[in-house]
Amino acid sequence: MAVCKHKYLHTGRPRDYCEREIAAGSTEYCVFHFVAEGNHRVRDALNAAIRSSDLWLEGATLAGRDLSDLDLTGAQLPLADLEGANLERTVLVGANFEFANCRSARLNGAVLTNAVLCRSIFTATQAVGGHFEFSDLSGVDLEGSSLEGAFFYGCRMDEQTNWEGVHIGSIGEECICQHERAASVYRVLGKNAEARSNYFAAHRWYLREMRNLHRAQRARSESSIANLLWNVHRHLWGYGVRPQLTLLWMLGVILVFGIIVYPILGVCVSSIESYSLVHGIALSFISFATMGGGTIVPLTTWGDVMAALEAFLGILLTSVFLVSLGVRFIHRK
Ligand SMILES: [Zn+2]
Repeated sequence: MAVCKHKYLHTGRPRDYCEREIAAGSTEYCVFHFVAEGNHRVRDALNAAIRSSDLWLEGATLAGRDLSDLDLTGAQLPLADLEGANLERTVLVGANFEFANCRSARLNGAVLTNAVLCRSIFTATQAVGGHFEFSDLSGVDLEGSSLEGAFFYGCRMDEQTNWEGVHIGSIGEECICQHERAASVYRVLGKNAEARSNYFAAHRWYLREMRNLHRAQRARSESSIANLLWNVHRHLWGYGVRPQLTLLWMLGVILVFGIIVYPILGVCVSSIESYSLVHGIALSFISFATMGGGTIVPLTTWGDVMAALEAFLGILLTSVFLVSLGVRFIHRK
């Protein structure tokens, strides 16, 4: 009996040739390796393969096929062509997709936990709510994919993993409030973006990581001091990477002291008492910059205390501003 002549090349293959039964209409290849239009027997053949536990499908031509809802646990699909295939809700736990082409495939709700996707093409795929936990995404090209609510905890990535233009909204872990896991995923994504010199994305992932760590802390403990510190961390300088927030605080301090504090307590301008806004703001600027010119000074002792406090805030906020500016824009590590 003639059998499929497709040659297996990937390491770890069980035999050198496919050796499956030849498909109707072909003289050389089985249903998985025979490229023909309207080949609708693939699902039956896959079910038969599942039953016989022979899921070594290297180089299978399954482009555009409907493989939804199948249980293909452990399927070996290296070098397979799955372009535009329908893999919605398909179980592919521990499957091997090395060098496979899954461009434009639909993977919504698919389970690829522990799968090996090294160097495969996943561009423009739809994998909303898909499971990729503990999968190996080294060198995978995910450009332009829709991955909203997909799970990525424990994924491996390297700098060739391409996340450009991925629509992700929130990852699955974040959606179901596993904030610590979400933070660790965002951390891996941040490192990936940094390795690819995409600092804009790295910054975005970092903010998400910190937001999730913050939420994890809030869910974990009632400690109001820890919560306060986290809130300061967030609002004072955006977890250390938003100097513009600090700049707003600086402006706020100058205005509060200049418009409210000094006009109420009084200012002494060249030995003349004044309660005007202009003099208040002038004194506020001078105090904030810790300059102390001497022509404009606070009128009362409480005014002196306030000026000293403002000077202290000026030093503190200026330092915080400079540090966050450095963290945000200097990336050498
Ligand atoms: Zn074959």
